[in-house]
Amino acid sequence: MSNIAKKPPVVACPNCGTELIWDSRNTFRPFCSARCKNNDLVAWANEDHAIPGQPLEDVFSEDLDGNY
Ligand SMILES: [Zn+2]
Repeated sequence: MSNIAKKPPVVACPNCGTELIWDSRNTFRPFCSARCKNNDLVAWANEDHAIPGQPLEDVFSEDLDGNY
């Protein structure tokens, strides 16, 4: 009973619910796409979710490509 087939982990995109395979090549995980990742980031920034000690500029400058 040691021959268990491995299934890739599947997660649901937190923004739109699309299921995607959790893969190290998926740079947008846990989101399905850059769009969903950015959408979530914007929503997150518009609410009161502040990370103590981490400036918002650091979060924004990583992935948005100057597109906000
Ligand atoms: Zn999505």
